[in-house]
Order: sequence, then C-alpha cells, then structure tokens
Amino acid sequence: MSFYQIIDPAFGRYVLGNAPPKQLATGFDWVEGPVWFGDANCLLFSEIPSNRILRWTPDVGISTYRAPSNYANGHTRDGQGRLISCEHGLRRVTRTEHDGSITVIADSFNGKPLNSPNDVVVKSDGSIWFSDPHYGIASNYEGFAAPQENPCNVYRWHNGDLRAVVTDMNCPNGLAFSPDETRLYVADTGRMHSDDAQMIRVYDVATDGSLSAGRHFHTIDAGCADGIRIDSDGNIWSSAGDGVQCISPTGALMGKIFLPETVSNLCFGGRAKHQLYITATTSLYRITLNRKGVQYP
Ligand code: MG
Repeated sequence: MSFYQIIDPAFGRYVLGNAPPKQLATGFDWVEGPVWFGDANCLLFSEIPSNRILRWTPDVGISTYRAPSNYANGHTRDGQGRLISCEHGLRRVTRTEHDGSITVIADSFNGKPLNSPNDVVVKSDGSIWFSDPHYGIASNYEGFAAPQENPCNVYRWHNGDLRAVVTDMNCPNGLAFSPDETRLYVADTGRMHSDDAQMIRVYDVATDGSLSAGRHFHTIDAGCADGIRIDSDGNIWSSAGDGVQCISPTGALMGKIFLPETVSNLCFGGRAKHQLYITATTSLYRITLNRKGVQYP
C-alpha cells in the first residue's frame, strides 16, 4: 500500500514515491511543537508530559535541550532566530534570548492568568500570535490542573501590547499565516470531552494586525487539525488522525500522507525547507517532499 493518497493531481508532484516517512525516534509521551534550527542543523520539539524539550540532530539523534521545560508545547522562532515557546506549566509565552536568558512575553490577560498557551507564530512585523486553549490545565497530564480564568482566545502581542484577536472559537490550537500574511489559519480542536465541532477557520488580516471575516475553512476527515504549516504556494499542511493532510488555499483536500500514529504537529526543515518533521503521539517522523515550506525566519 502506498504511503500517500492523491486527491488533487497536483499533490502527485508534492510527494516523492521513493521517500516514504521515516521514524527518526520513538518511545515518547505525546510529542508536540517541532521547530527547525537550520543554523544548528537540529530540530527542537516538546515531550509535554515528560516536561522536557528534546533536540534531534542527524549525527547524535535525540538529546535533551531543556528540562524541566515548564511543560512546553508549541515553539517557533522570531525574526532574530530566537526561540519562542508556549509553556503550559507556568501558563506563559517566553522568548529564549541569545545568551540563554528567558524573557516572559505574556502570562496574563485582563489581570488573570492565561490558560495554557499551545502554539505560536511570529509575523514579519515582529508581532507574536499564540493560542490559549485549556488543555494544559484540564488535567495533570500536560501541566497542572487548575481552574480556567480566561476564555480560549488567540492573542496578538506586539511591543508589549497584548490583545485578544480571536474570541469566537472553542479551543484554538495550531496557527499559520498565508505566505503574504493576509490570512491567518487557526485550527480548533474543541474542548476536551465534548462534541464541539473541530475545524480549521480562516481570518483576513489587516495591516494593523486586526482580523475580520472569520469563517470555516476546512474540516479534517480523520481526527482533527492540531498543528498546521504553510508551503510556498500557500497550501496548508495539517496534522490529522491518519497522518498529514495537504489542503489547498481554497480549502480542498489535495492529498494525504499516512502515518501509524495520530499527528500533533509538524514543521518544515532541512537545507531547502523541503522536509516535514512530524511529531506524532509517541514518535518523531520525517518525510522529504518536493515542496518548500514557509518557515519564519
Ligand atoms: Mg497544538
């Protein structure tokens, strides 16, 4: 059986028939938040329940980058290459400076603690956008169980100013900008133990960072979209229950890459940003594509 399924013929040019997904490492507890560091030729990702950030390199394999990680989840890098992290445990978003010190970007809104920041992207103007669902405080598995004091919003932080920019979703999770940053895609994974609709929504982004015209974009047909990433043509590569799915900018499913574990998140990496690094439940996978990802920086 093929490791992929072509729905739109264009997807047939995105996959390489002799480059199936490869399991790079396994035996983890719910891995998430992959971020590629081309300058260090390594991938960082979170093993959330084990309270650590791991590093994968081609020569060494797995080593520990940071432990404890305050139950870190999603990561990205800003325009200066600094690591931006979501932390369930301290319910905050942080930036790791070049000297290794930690700067807190945000840990409260309206005078109350954030829930458990989950995933984060940086816009080219330096603003930091992150989702704040309740998963990290809903139990003691991915953080510390605690009462929810703020709605599950998406926030935009810019030069110290924090605003709730998405307030109409159940549990916003993965986020990604279109290549021209005129659209923001946000995955909604729904509240734990509920029948909430799970979908990807899309918003129009104005130059001042305000959002409008929030609307349904796509509903994944196996499991749900958690982390999402964009390629250079604006296609959305989404995590799914059966692997990775590729969705066109018009919202049509183009094709699938099958994996044996539920995928939580993914990122483009490699020397040409042509590889997808995929965190999937207990394992880290990589697949080489005939695609180029939009990864900032
Ligand atoms: Mg997530």
